[in-house]
Amino acid sequence: MTPEQLRLVVVLYVSALVPLGLIPWLQYRRIIPTWSIRIYLLSFLLCAAGWEIWFTYGLLDGDPVTDRRAAILNEWIPIHLNWVLNSLGDAGVVCLLGLYWMWLCCGRSERVFRRWHWGGFAILLGWSVGQNMLVEMYLYHDQLSVGKTISWAPLVPTGPWFNPTLFEFHGRTITFQNQVCWVIMPPILYGLVLWQVKRGENLQSSPRAIPATERFDNVHFDPRTETREHRINVAQYTCPECDYRIRFTTHDFLRSEPYSCFTEKQKILADTLRPLDLGNEEDFFEFLCPGCQLPVRVVFWPDREFAMGCYTYELVTVVELPAPRCG
Ligand SMILES: [Zn+2]
Repeated sequence: MTPEQLRLVVVLYVSALVPLGLIPWLQYRRIIPTWSIRIYLLSFLLCAAGWEIWFTYGLLDGDPVTDRRAAILNEWIPIHLNWVLNSLGDAGVVCLLGLYWMWLCCGRSERVFRRWHWGGFAILLGWSVGQNMLVEMYLYHDQLSVGKTISWAPLVPTGPWFNPTLFEFHGRTITFQNQVCWVIMPPILYGLVLWQVKRGENLQSSPRAIPATERFDNVHFDPRTETREHRINVAQYTCPECDYRIRFTTHDFLRSEPYSCFTEKQKILADTLRPLDLGNEEDFFEFLCPGCQLPVRVVFWPDREFAMGCYTYELVTVVELPAPRCG
């Protein structure tokens, strides 16, 4: 195997497999938005069905990849794995990394994913086409070069029948057919992201009752350890709308009368969404998020009486009542 062939094999496997492990991990750690993994999957399917499967097998008026490259590469990258690895690389390195550049260059703000932004789109388009030209010149120049026919594909509608050479650089050619998919793909990808973000916001703006563990970093309060160890149990709530963090201690449950800041309408809505289980002596407290005024009710139960009238507490459910967004 020549060094150049080795480079191709390494780059292909690394660019396919690193995002495959990294993206779910980043999602799990909540470092990237919740829609990322769906976009990753959709990008994979689009690239696979859009051109990679067609190019790999040469389905319509094209040579299969096995005819276009050296035998040693066919051994290292079997034909049935070829389109999978290429599509994984497309989805991870081109699509998701492209979205990351957009976010980075547009003020590190998710706003660029809420409404169409021409500057952001230019970055995505530039990255997609730019990386593809580099790939064509330095990675795949042998199997995409002049004289080898590449199949028609849905996202390359002009097919092999219209394929002028765009320019030459150091003896390497950049042809029209191989760029088309990465001109068509970015607006589709951007549209998918806008749609997913919008959908997530619509879901977020409806009232909901969710397990307390989804919002609080701690749900158990034990006054015994507090007196014994002089350690106060603290639970931190993170607002899903504005990321504001609020700390609660046992004292927040021990008010003589239940504190409520909800309007009558909000009380009825919260009661309907999550009726109190009075048989379990469930109780609640309410607050408005200081960051965005989101009305929040926290249902808890004193789960065990350990001395006369003294309980340990467990947070059970959080009821959030966002106002529907306009526009
Ligand atoms: Zn908030």
